[in-house]
Amino acid sequence: MNILVTNDDGIASSGIYALTAALRRLGTVTVVAPDRQQSAVGHALTVSEPLRVTRIWRDGQFFGYAVSGTPADCVKLAIARLLETPPDIVVSGINHGYNTGINVLYSGTVSAATEAMLLGIPAIAVSLGSFDESADCSVAAQTAAYLVEHYHELGIPPKTLLNVNVPPLPEEQIKGVRITRQGQGMWNDAYEERLDPMGRPYYWLRGIYNHLDSDPNADDVAVEHGYIAITPIRFHLTDEETISRLKERF
Ligand code: MN
Repeated sequence: MNILVTNDDGIASSGIYALTAALRRLGTVTVVAPDRQQSAVGHALTVSEPLRVTRIWRDGQFFGYAVSGTPADCVKLAIARLLETPPDIVVSGINHGYNTGINVLYSGTVSAATEAMLLGIPAIAVSLGSFDESADCSVAAQTAAYLVEHYHELGIPPKTLLNVNVPPLPEEQIKGVRITRQGQGMWNDAYEERLDPMGRPYYWLRGIYNHLDSDPNADDVAVEHGYIAITPIRFHLTDEETISRLKERF
């Protein structure tokens, strides 16, 4: 099995290292990931400058390709140029920080998986609810490996990806797996104003995440209750109901 691994936290993150280590026993893993932090870039592509690719070694071994672009760039470039054959599956992560609720929209991690899905390749996004680079990624890595190994038994249709969110808890405190839907949670944006050394103001986004769900099957609620949340996601955005209503008028 050929597995393409990417992320949005950059190739140097501990999450992508843990994920790669867990997947290597299942097949040939190729890492193609951004050369820097690319969180919250969504599905952006690089069109006005070239993409540079750097080979990265870790622990004395070739680890993967660092790309001067976004997560979606990495998936496209890997499939178009860097890989000899298209991957059987793409796994994006392990992201530091949950990709639940509205974060699914902003997430570079999920967008990399979306890009794979659009190209007709099975795709999984994996996120851990901790921004601590030294957080234990083992449960998230094991979960990803399980899903990759058993992907074809799960009956996931084409054009659907799996968005997996894992609480930052020791394995014995994880209550289990809950199959969830994308929650309604979103950010209450606050732009902090500071002054640069020249006395000019600048702004830094510093939102507070509002959990707006009570449904236990919402991704945000499941992870808060200690469950691994697995949400099947599609990216067909048309509102069919409103089509009917507008057609009555026009
Ligand atoms: Mn990230």
